[in-house]
Amino acid sequence: MNRIKHWVKSFTLWELLLGLKLTGRYLFKRKITIQFPEEKTPVSNRFRGLHALRRYANGEERCIACKLCEAVCPALAITIDAEPRDDGSRRTTRYEIDLFKCIYCGFCEESCPVDSIVETDIMHYHFENRGENIMSKPMLLAIGDKYEDDIAKAREQDAPYR
Ligand code: SF4
Ligand code: SF4
Repeated sequence: MNRIKHWVKSFTLWELLLGLKLTGRYLFKRKITIQFPEEKTPVSNRFRGLHALRRYANGEERCIACKLCEAVCPALAITIDAEPRDDGSRRTTRYEIDLFKCIYCGFCEESCPVDSIVETDIMHYHFENRGENIMSKPMLLAIGDKYEDDIAKAREQDAPYR
C-alpha cells in the first residue's frame, strides 16, 4: 500500500504541489519585506540603543560623577573614575561602558539625577576590532554632542531620539 502511495505521489509531483500551495497562499498578500537601508522599520518609543553622555547648553558636562549609574547597573558594564577639579566641582576622569556586558535595561538612564547618561535609539553599529566594545567618555560625549538637539526634543515629547 505504501509503495502505491509513494508511486502516486511521485507521479503527481505531490511535494511540488504542496510547495506551490504555500507560495500561492502568500502570492497576493501584503508584502512585508522592506528595502533596508533605504527603508526602515518603525522604532518603539521604549527602544533603548547606543548610549550618549550629554552636556549643558554652555558646553559643560552634565555628569557630576555621582556613580549612581555605575552602582545600579546590573551587568557591571559601567566603570567610572572621578576626581575634583580645581574649582571644587566633581567630574569623571574615566567613564566607560562595556557594550558586550550591557543588557540595555535603561537603569543607568533612570538613575541619573542630571539627565547625563541617556540611551539613544541608535541601533546600527558594529565592532571590527578587539576592544571597540568599550565606549569611552570622549566617544559617549561625541554621540551626545552629535544628537543633542534630537535627544532634548525627544525627552520633551517622550518620543524616540532620532
Ligand atoms: S543600560 Fe543597563 S546594563 Fe547597560 S549600562 Fe545602563 S544600567 Fe548597565
Ligand atoms: S552619568 Fe549621571 S548617574 Fe552616572 S555618574 Fe554621571 S551624573 Fe551620576
